[in-house]
Amino acid sequence: MALRNLRYEGDEILRKKSREVPLVDDRIRILMDDMVETMYANDGVGLAAPQVGILKRVIVIDVEDGKVYKMANPKILTEAGEQTGEEGCLSVPEKRGLVARPMKVVVEYIDENNREQKLEAEGLLARAICHEIDHLNGVLFTDRVIDDLIEE
Ligand code: ZN
Repeated sequence: MALRNLRYEGDEILRKKSREVPLVDDRIRILMDDMVETMYANDGVGLAAPQVGILKRVIVIDVEDGKVYKMANPKILTEAGEQTGEEGCLSVPEKRGLVARPMKVVVEYIDENNREQKLEAEGLLARAICHEIDHLNGVLFTDRVIDDLIEE
């Protein structure tokens, strides 16, 4: 595994739409593992491929619920409820802000073994999934902040 360089707000790659992954092969698995390592090294709970300069629909998440999610082509099928909470982003260092997200989502994706999965997520995991999928569409949490951004 290897650390990848993070891209930061202002880098135009973060505003581009990522492409679907046709197959989760060894190359994508290496990308996923590198992204997990990069996420941990930077104390993040999630990371999307464009944040390391790759415009592919791949995200990784670990909200410390005992599982590391590696997802290709994640797609939200249904969402329910609402939660408002503070978010930050490894690509927008030292800023946080309040963002409204669904409380629950059902997401389908392709896992690291190229198998289709469906996951019901709630709370912080649902928030992280929405945040990371936004990255795949060129959206940053700062676009969705309800109140003023908090500078740390
Ligand atoms: Zn982010």
